[in-house]
Amino acid sequence: MLFVIDEIPTAGLNFSVVKKKEEFAIDPLEYSLVGDIEVAGTLSLSGKDVYLSGAIKTELKLNCSRCLEPFQFPVESKVTAHFVPREEPDKDSVEHPEVELSTSDIDIEYYDGNRVDIHQPVHDQILLALPFVAACRKDCKGLCSECGANLNKGPCGCSPDGPVDLRLDVLRSLKEKLK
Ligand SMILES: [Zn+2]
Ligand SMILES: [Zn+2]
Repeated sequence: MLFVIDEIPTAGLNFSVVKKKEEFAIDPLEYSLVGDIEVAGTLSLSGKDVYLSGAIKTELKLNCSRCLEPFQFPVESKVTAHFVPREEPDKDSVEHPEVELSTSDIDIEYYDGNRVDIHQPVHDQILLALPFVAACRKDCKGLCSECGANLNKGPCGCSPDGPVDLRLDVLRSLKEKLK
């Protein structure tokens, strides 16, 4: 996803690109893309700095942390980045090696020559959009701790009198006594 900086007009460049999922390596490999990566946004110039502001749309396949089944997770996320030209290391910087990084420097990306590549911020933003704990659905029942069966597919028969049923039985017999 390369853009030629000289082709960015002063008013900014509106773009919309689609990257085939086969051409977009996502790292770590446990995440696999099932949808192409759509990025739409604006590139703007300020001196030699290039600013990206856009939106990402794609879909990934994740494994549920409870039932271990793969499921599809759609990603829709904003992406911003600030690119600066990569400076050639010169003698001055060697003499002053301790340059303090300000917090804003952390988000800085570098470009070489006259082209800016938005791959890295898009890649990082996709990872940031993923859930901390992946669950195929909110009420995923997970696996039976006894036999390992996927409880979303129905009861496994390990404990027909589960704790919930027991409590209901107690209530029922109480009601009977109160009659
Ligand atoms: Zn699940
Ligand atoms: Zn079971």
